[in-house]
Amino acid sequence: MTPRSVYIHVPFCGRRCGYCNFALVAGRDDLVAGYLQALQHELATTLVQPANVDTIFLGGGTPSHLSPVDLRQLLTLVTEWFAPTASAEFSCEVNPMDCDAQRLGLLSQYGVNRISLGGQSFNDAKLAVLERDHHGRQLRDSINLCCQVFDNVSLDLIFAAPNESLSDWQRDIEVALQFPLRHLSTYGLTIERGSAFYGRRLRKEIEELDEDVQLAMYEHTLKTLSQTGWEHYEVSNFARTGYRCRHNEAYWLGHTWWGFGPGAASFLPSDRDHTYLRQVNHRSPTTYIRRQLEGRCAVAERDEIGLEQYVRERLVFGLRRLAGLSLTELNDVYGSSVRPLFEPYLQQYLDMGLLTLDAQNTLRLSRQGLLVSDSLWPELLGDT
Ligand code: SF4
Repeated sequence: MTPRSVYIHVPFCGRRCGYCNFALVAGRDDLVAGYLQALQHELATTLVQPANVDTIFLGGGTPSHLSPVDLRQLLTLVTEWFAPTASAEFSCEVNPMDCDAQRLGLLSQYGVNRISLGGQSFNDAKLAVLERDHHGRQLRDSINLCCQVFDNVSLDLIFAAPNESLSDWQRDIEVALQFPLRHLSTYGLTIERGSAFYGRRLRKEIEELDEDVQLAMYEHTLKTLSQTGWEHYEVSNFARTGYRCRHNEAYWLGHTWWGFGPGAASFLPSDRDHTYLRQVNHRSPTTYIRRQLEGRCAVAERDEIGLEQYVRERLVFGLRRLAGLSLTELNDVYGSSVRPLFEPYLQQYLDMGLLTLDAQNTLRLSRQGLLVSDSLWPELLGDT
């Protein structure tokens, strides 16, 4: 029950991209020293003693935005508190603009063995629309540099940017496949409250791409990557054999994890049987830092997750994985049949051919279900 995974949120970027609503500050490097002190305090008061873990994920923000001196301090702190097992996955998000030999060397020296590059596109016009701070050339160079230092390099790409055409997206995929990447995450752009795009859409300065074009882009991704030997293992994620992201798999499989830093969520065992605790830190980096340095708790929300909610979340996250999930195992966790929790929707989705249930009682998204999966989750989670 003790978490075997840890997420550390590093809330700094050079500037905020148009679609981003993450918990971060842009252009406030003056806060880095306070953040590192606050993180040290949070780790010391939460853990008391160092913990063994199977996966570590440094995300943000972009951890690579830190100067080499600050990055070394972060890595020292993390490796003092977490002892990765010999086969552990230790990931770090890197922004192409900060990708240099010195930072990559430091990451490698401290045991990072997986790089997640926030590339998004190779197309300069699309990168400008997304308000990214890099060009396609810089992304190509940074992938080459990462692949020289690390065996396991993952690339994030975004599709359905405003005004993007299907052929623009096809070209992004084609270029990505020229590199020896091990993992690809492809996300359709969503315009979230709190992002600059949200206001721009309200003012009718930008529009979401037509749904049919978005669907064609996703279908192109599925087809091209499966034809080129990639394993499609989660709705938005593809891996070369043996290179699935084990940290994200821990989330999807309902394991517990720690989260540290502003806005970070933790999913923890609780003192009561069959219940869990989900707690989320204050999102504002300045509030997080202030509270930690004043010796106050940085948790903003704490919810007890009962068995029914846990089972609902296990089903939805499990369905995001292409392997699906065993209803027999879920029944064992719940102590009786879970089907009544999900009806009438589960049967409707089966009848509509959006889900399949095989003879071993494994539930999976069908190909058709995959294309509309986001619309299935609210009812299965009981949010409607
Ligand atoms: S680089 Fe990533 S985390 Fe930073 S502002 Fe852009 S999208 Fe957000």
